[in-house]
Amino acid sequence: MFEMTDRKPAGRIRRLLVANRGEIAVRIIRAAHELGIQTIQVHSQADGDMLAARLAGERIEIGPSRANKSYLRPEAILDAARRTGADAIHPGYGFLAENAEFADMTENAGLIFVGPSGDIMRTMGDKARARKAAETAGVPTVPGSRGVVADVDEALTLAEAIGYPLLLKATAGGGGRGIRLASNPAELKDLFIQAAAEARAAFGDPGIYLERFIPRARHIEVQVLGDGENVIHLFERECSLQRRRQKIWEEAPAASLDDDIRQRLCRSALELARAVRYRGAGTVEFLYDENRRAFYFIEMNTRIQVEHPVTEMVTGIDLVREMIRIAGGHRLSLRQEDIRLTGHAIECRINAEDPALDFTPVPGTVETLHIPGGPGLRFDTMLYPGYTIPPFYDSLLGKLIAWDHSRPQAISRMARALREMRITGVPTTLPLLLELTGAADVREGAVHTGWLEEWLASKTLDLPLEKAACP
Ligand code: ADP
Ligand code: ADP
Ligand code: MG
Repeated sequence: MFEMTDRKPAGRIRRLLVANRGEIAVRIIRAAHELGIQTIQVHSQADGDMLAARLAGERIEIGPSRANKSYLRPEAILDAARRTGADAIHPGYGFLAENAEFADMTENAGLIFVGPSGDIMRTMGDKARARKAAETAGVPTVPGSRGVVADVDEALTLAEAIGYPLLLKATAGGGGRGIRLASNPAELKDLFIQAAAEARAAFGDPGIYLERFIPRARHIEVQVLGDGENVIHLFERECSLQRRRQKIWEEAPAASLDDDIRQRLCRSALELARAVRYRGAGTVEFLYDENRRAFYFIEMNTRIQVEHPVTEMVTGIDLVREMIRIAGGHRLSLRQEDIRLTGHAIECRINAEDPALDFTPVPGTVETLHIPGGPGLRFDTMLYPGYTIPPFYDSLLGKLIAWDHSRPQAISRMARALREMRITGVPTTLPLLLELTGAADVREGAVHTGWLEEWLASKTLDLPLEKAACP
């Protein structure tokens, strides 16, 4: 164990249970071990072979393969924590990470939840309520309904004032799921009932709210860290390259943003986080309309985010370590003036999907794996040669992160690394990502949240794409 200058680097946390899987479970275990914390990894029946279970000090099975029988069951997780003598739980992202009841249950069981309190989550994790909190804090929101919409009639009336096209959003949605576009009253009428039923089935909450659709906007989000009293920001990330409203390429800092707008965005995020006395790591997401120089709050994610490494690369701060330290009772050790940006970082999400089959997730066994190296590169993954990807969970295989002094250099480094990376046995999005590094609009930073789908529709997805990854 390496020596720490701080004798209790993790405060009250000695044994941390990781209530997640995949690459983020690996990421959390690494941060915990560096802090001298023992780790316990939960896993479903399908996940006995996963890397995080091999790296953790201990492992414990929590149920059948389907997430709703394992990773999504608070009782199963808490029972595992009790049986293994854990004193804290890290929820990662997805699954129970933004479930306020789970946070409360964890605290009520006498354990530490690595994240904000259930109350903060109830205010900020529910997307419709978070809009209200933003309005109260004076942060601009997208024009839309004041909260959840009661029924079709109310939706139709409100839509007249909001204007079409508009989005129907599930208040409990996430990961790009639970969002529908309505272009006129007839569509709204059909979609409303459908969307509410789906939201009830998918998220256990039928709540739907409305937002005006902001075309050709950029997705810009601000990372915050709080200890319940002080809150700081770690500047912004841009995640405008999306497919089906899911990010696939993220950067820090944003590709091109006036300093004035950057400051206003970061200040707005801080005001919102301060208003709820935020504790832990969180992200305040905005849409930025370049033509109007206007930005709008869309949601806050009260957890660690998939794309957190790009912020780590440009600030030098380990966000997962910070969130564990804060949960362990430490005050925020960083001041706003300590946060400095150096260079540019880009993350590419590598998914087990077949671009030739409209990006259908394809599970399988990894045969060979070559991970690129060299300066300024990082690969966060749960892959190893021989690993069989189970079909039950999401398709993220890993995140390749490239850092360099400037954005053009970071893109070149990413292209070089994508060419070098070799994953065989499962189809991956590597060829698509490599093509993106060469796209003129991407190089110029002239993209918006609809750009990738327009670009994909405009090209025939044929051989060049599939061959592109082979040097
Ligand atoms: P980030 O905002 O961190 O980039 P995403 O929005 O892509 O992350 O979501 C992170 C992960 O969590 C994804 O695996 C996504 O499928 C999952 N996720 C997020 N919110 C929900 C939710 N409400 N229900 C189900 N899955 C979710
Ligand atoms: P999720 O919880 O699934 O992450 P968000 O509300 O963050 O949902 O939205 C996901 C993505 O959907 C955004 O990054 C953006 O591309 C698109 N989007 C969301 N709201 C709007 C809007 N009002 N107008 C245009 N696009 C939007
Ligand atoms: Mg979002």
